[in-house]
Amino acid sequence: MTRTRTLLMHRMAGSIQNQNLGAPVVIVQGFLGTTAAWIWGNFDHYLNFDSKFPRRTIFVSVGPVSSLHDRACELYYALMGGTVDYGLEHSEAHKHARYGRHISEGQYPEWSPTRPLHFIAHSIGGPTVIKLLHLIKQGHFGPSAHAQMILSINAISAPFRGTQLVYLLGERADAAPAVRPLSFGSILGKWVHILSYMAPLLPQALDFHGDCRSLTYRDISFFSLLKQLWTSDWAESRDAAPFDVSCQAVDERESDGEGVIDPNIFYQSHVAVMTRRRSESVKFHIPALSHIASPLMYISSRLVGKFDFSTLRPSPSFLAQRGDSDCAARPELDMGEEYWANDGVVPVFSQWHPLPCRLTRCRHLVDGQLDEDRTTPSPGIWHVNREEDAHHMSLVPLWTGTDRQKQWWRRLGQWLASVEESR
Ligand SMILES: [Zn+2]
Ligand SMILES: [Zn+2]
Repeated sequence: MTRTRTLLMHRMAGSIQNQNLGAPVVIVQGFLGTTAAWIWGNFDHYLNFDSKFPRRTIFVSVGPVSSLHDRACELYYALMGGTVDYGLEHSEAHKHARYGRHISEGQYPEWSPTRPLHFIAHSIGGPTVIKLLHLIKQGHFGPSAHAQMILSINAISAPFRGTQLVYLLGERADAAPAVRPLSFGSILGKWVHILSYMAPLLPQALDFHGDCRSLTYRDISFFSLLKQLWTSDWAESRDAAPFDVSCQAVDERESDGEGVIDPNIFYQSHVAVMTRRRSESVKFHIPALSHIASPLMYISSRLVGKFDFSTLRPSPSFLAQRGDSDCAARPELDMGEEYWANDGVVPVFSQWHPLPCRLTRCRHLVDGQLDEDRTTPSPGIWHVNREEDAHHMSLVPLWTGTDRQKQWWRRLGQWLASVEESR
């Protein structure tokens, strides 16, 4: 088939889509997530269960350990095509090349306010899309990019406001982005460097998008690799995913206006919870015993559920603003339990939405409200759904074919259709 004919068919498909099909869905994966669409299973069968014409799904490839800024840039160019531009100011500040890889054919080059996209984002995919919106509004991608290109943001287990797990895995609580030696984070960082060094020989599933950092054996000597394994210029920098989920990075982003609601975009978050309160006297949480079948998640949930936020330096804004020295010393007595209730990876307060409730627009749905709100979604407000007895991977990305997953995808498909009807 000639390229012209392919393009023609692509355009025809686009015009049919405008007439009959819903807006396509972009899947943005989380930390260490790659383009392994097969893990997600046949979710699209249930996503399209109630519609006559199947909605197109687009999996994008963005840096699995990269910073939100770098991921958001890669996301934009993966859809539009072109050479990934991280921006002059950003690249100078973080000492990497301004330009990344060239994408000769974007996955949705017709993306525009008249052909907007839905985003389904798992874990750090959530704050990645928030960063994308922020960069669009700042003019990072030029005048043709517009916030109305984003029709809806649908986040699952997203650490919008960070997670204490990053400190448990190695980030220094008193000196982020430094990483503790021999911690999980430190070892993972070394593996990322080794795999990036060998990148030209490896399959796409191990693509760490290190193009702008010149990390492969074609770019650097073996001695330079050893230097990176000793102290990483990437993993222990402010321009990497671990730092971006620290409380310090979240406070910096929020004070910069990132995460402010756009009145035209439809927002919903799905908050997974696998814990219950440990006792009446403290707000700490423990995982339900039924989750012991996922031992790593069970252990991390226990640790997240009793984290001592008073060890963090600088003190996170949600702690510092309370102003009471007793509370700052024993936050588990005074703060809401949502800081410790968690899905094994992310605390509940962080999964809700960016910014505290008092500084954004949100509706936290309880069971009775669910159906009514799904049929009449409103733009410019976060619809916060709670998913009880679910861990970080219960809904996505790992398809297990449970009734819960099938129903969840089906409801999501209905919600996306309602969004389009209420525009
Ligand atoms: Zn960067
Ligand atoms: Zn809220």
